[in-house]
Amino acid sequence: MTRLAPFLTVLLLAAALPVRADWMERTEAIMGTRCYVELWADEPAKGNDAIDAVMAELRRIDSLMSHYKPESQLSQINQYANERPVQVDKELFDLIRLSTHYSQITEGAFDITYASVGYLYNYPQHIRPTEAQIRQALPAVNWRNMLLDEEHHTVRFEHPGMRIDLGGIGKGHAVDRGIDVLKARGIARALVTAGGDSRIIGDRMGRPWLVAIRHPDNPSKVVTRIPLSDSAVSTSGDYERYFDEDGVRYHHIIDPRTGHSASKVRSATILAPTATQTDGMSKTAFVLGAEKALEIINRMPEYDAVFVLPDGRVLYSNGLRPPASRPADAPPPAPTASSVVR
Ligand code: ADP
Ligand code: MG
Repeated sequence: MTRLAPFLTVLLLAAALPVRADWMERTEAIMGTRCYVELWADEPAKGNDAIDAVMAELRRIDSLMSHYKPESQLSQINQYANERPVQVDKELFDLIRLSTHYSQITEGAFDITYASVGYLYNYPQHIRPTEAQIRQALPAVNWRNMLLDEEHHTVRFEHPGMRIDLGGIGKGHAVDRGIDVLKARGIARALVTAGGDSRIIGDRMGRPWLVAIRHPDNPSKVVTRIPLSDSAVSTSGDYERYFDEDGVRYHHIIDPRTGHSASKVRSATILAPTATQTDGMSKTAFVLGAEKALEIINRMPEYDAVFVLPDGRVLYSNGLRPPASRPADAPPPAPTASSVVR
């Protein structure tokens, strides 16, 4: 027994020592998509709790904002806002109001009332509206016909047949709230992803994260890699939710002016400080085209963009281009991405 004592002491000491800090990760299906959290934790228990808390936050936001869940506040708006003002939580109200800001800066390319026609599509079932159905539904698409009462947090539709969905900004918002949860717990290095929307805090121990932009037709082929730290990134693609019929691709990004899938680019990647910002801007180029979208992005110093065109060309915003190829009158590159991508 006495000869065993030193051995036992070593064992007990090892058990008492703190477990080594490490990267931890988890994937869950929430908001109809893949949600992923990766973080650096001092202790596995702390890391696990933090991941639990982020997943719970994503689920909470989904219950509030999903247009698939009939009991969500968003669904209540769609059900009653044609008849009367519908009061909702400040968080949802603020996101709806913010979405009108993106409608404004994207000249209407981003418009959550797109859903007035968008609901007629069902991609997994290969269902799309007829031209007559689109003609009938389209007049209800116009964000200006949403009456938003700041004081009472109510939403009222001023045109019959209006609907909204936050599929184009809700995941960005959820990612930002997930990052808030991590920061409040003292986590300094992490990645949170929901569908096409991600945000990174910190870096990978002195090195940036490498965000790959995939080829639109080949998921294992990478078009370019962007090193990032302390930044958000959203990619929208015509390969995410779609079906092909008679050589035409019907996919989930809709031109609010026509009610048809918007196909001026194959994919759009936006970089900015928050995921709500990047999500809100990642649909623009599909609708307005890469040149017009670049014009808008290049006017906003916090943003950068990479667009993959139908002919395979890849266009970069000024902040991502080497100084020599930048127009003389271009604003200085944004600090987030220009310093890390060449
Ligand atoms: P992900 O859901 O993978 O992040 P996106 O950010 O590309 O994908 O958003 C696509 C979603 O945006 C669509 O599924 C739909 O819910 C919504 N949407 C489609 N067209 C528009 C539009 N013109 N304006 C606002 N939202 C849109
Ligand atoms: Mg998105």
